[in-house]
Amino acid sequence: MNAPSAVTFPYVINPATGILPEIAELAVPTDDRVWVPQAPNVWFRPLLLNKTAGYWFNLLKVTRSGVLSRHRHPGPVHGFVIKGSWHYLEHPWVADAGKFVFEPPGEVHTLVVDDTTDEMITLFNVTGSMIYMDQNDHQIGYEDVFTKIDMCRAHYEKVGLGAQYVDQFIR
Ligand code: FE
Repeated sequence: MNAPSAVTFPYVINPATGILPEIAELAVPTDDRVWVPQAPNVWFRPLLLNKTAGYWFNLLKVTRSGVLSRHRHPGPVHGFVIKGSWHYLEHPWVADAGKFVFEPPGEVHTLVVDDTTDEMITLFNVTGSMIYMDQNDHQIGYEDVFTKIDMCRAHYEKVGLGAQYVDQFIR
């Protein structure tokens, strides 16, 4: 085991390094306007929108049960369920509160919010894109970090927070 550190003062970061500012944010917001509507009874709350590496972290909130979407993940997805319960039609496991989820690149699956759930909230980290598909496997839409930023700007402008409100989450 390492000896206890005797350091009692903060390290001074040289601003010339260009290191980007950190984020420490209450994940579930107290102001409901921070939730960006995505579909009827579906919202997302941005936490980190990384334009350089092409990924994002957001909370997904759903207040209805049933099929939400069928989608393909070209890149990996990591999730942590905060509230409620959901599953994929393609897999036997259930994602309920407290569970960690990994969705490997290449997965195609159909998200269903369980009918025991009034409100589902899950933290998702999505790399690359989400490609939405119909049941004939045709692409019907996609999302990436740039569509996410666009949706945030439009919504925050509309609700009075200002389009630039999203900038604090962009790196
Ligand atoms: Fe997925």
